[in-house]
Amino acid sequence: MTNKQPVGAIEQRLMKKENWSMASSVDCYWHEDECRCDLCGKKISGRHMIDGKRGDSYEFALMCPSCHRSEGGKFGDGIGQLYSRTSDKRWLLTFGFTDDQLAEFGDEDEDDDNDF
Ligand SMILES: [Zn+2]
Repeated sequence: MTNKQPVGAIEQRLMKKENWSMASSVDCYWHEDECRCDLCGKKISGRHMIDGKRGDSYEFALMCPSCHRSEGGKFGDGIGQLYSRTSDKRWLLTFGFTDDQLAEFGDEDEDDDNDF
């Protein structure tokens, strides 16, 4: 794997959430390879990208990890989806699976201790 090494505490936390067994079953890629954070406008060049709800609003945004964190940092169906950079430079859904995906593919991953 040529994935980037973790940098910073936020990325460390997100890496712990990544569920690669679910991710490979669900096999859901973001439709673009290059993403820009809707909030700070920066190109997302790190390991993670989040498609999630902004705070308590119903508005969704593409976010870099630090903006996602400042918007509450939540994950889950209809709340936030975590995408991780794969070695072929695409974004794979690795956490925050939808209820449908969980029902179809599997294991509970709502808590933080989803070591595998
Ligand atoms: Zn941002």
